[in-house]
Amino acid sequence: MKYIGAHVSAAGGVENAPKNAAAIKASAFALFTKNQRQWTAKPLSPESILLFGAAMDAAGISRNAVLPHDSYLINLGHPDPEKREKSINAFIDEIQRCEKLGLKYLNFHPGSHLRQISEETCLELIADSINQALARTATVVAVIENTAGQGSNVGFSFEHLATIISHTTDKSRIGVCIDTCHAFAAGYDLRSAASCQNTFAEFEQIVGFSFLCGMHLNDAKRPLASRVDRHGSLGTGEIGLDAFRYIMQDARFDGIPLILETPDPEKWGEEIALLRSFEKEVNK
Ligand SMILES: [Zn+2]
Ligand SMILES: [Zn+2]
Repeated sequence: MKYIGAHVSAAGGVENAPKNAAAIKASAFALFTKNQRQWTAKPLSPESILLFGAAMDAAGISRNAVLPHDSYLINLGHPDPEKREKSINAFIDEIQRCEKLGLKYLNFHPGSHLRQISEETCLELIADSINQALARTATVVAVIENTAGQGSNVGFSFEHLATIISHTTDKSRIGVCIDTCHAFAAGYDLRSAASCQNTFAEFEQIVGFSFLCGMHLNDAKRPLASRVDRHGSLGTGEIGLDAFRYIMQDARFDGIPLILETPDPEKWGEEIALLRSFEKEVNK
């Protein structure tokens, strides 16, 4: 069974996210549990936590189908020790917010070397930051997102993801989320079933589907290997619909949140219905 949804708004409180997901007939969603452009936020109120639980039940959405996303400010691979410390503390706060909401995952961008340290050193710092955060928290699985490789971001190759995982101590609390737009921008072709077959075979070999905890389903506005991160609505970009049909018809993507981060929220309901129609083509 596929959990399909979008990164919905949590404006006015986290309890609004499940309602916004239900409104587009989603069975999964992503959200920010705090303002993603600020370092700190007041703790979630007990009332908000209760309302969130009630809204989840009302929407009929599994807590394992939610893929919260952390703040854009966090850089777990920051070359400056003080700034990395600030990021680790903010990351721990993000994990604890997810734990209070009873959620399983926290999705994050690995980090940037800012052209001050090597990719390898940056990847090792990221793993060390993850280890520190997991040691100081209880249950949430840290889900590394592959990047488009824009600027000095690491995490654009499957090898980078595997390197981070290899340096983490608790493998039961580490996973990955593959963003189709980012993968394509980083040079992984997804334009046909055959190219998807190759790309995901490579993923299986280097990272492994056992670590796959979610997908971001986005078309790409820029060509293959552009290293530029510009999401497109499904079927309107350089990837095209075959990739999304492939994912919807492959059991390796069952039981994890599949999240749209496409640019037009007005289309999310239609995009979810389209993905479900792809799934039904084989499950009649
Ligand atoms: Zn993404
Ligand atoms: Zn992106």
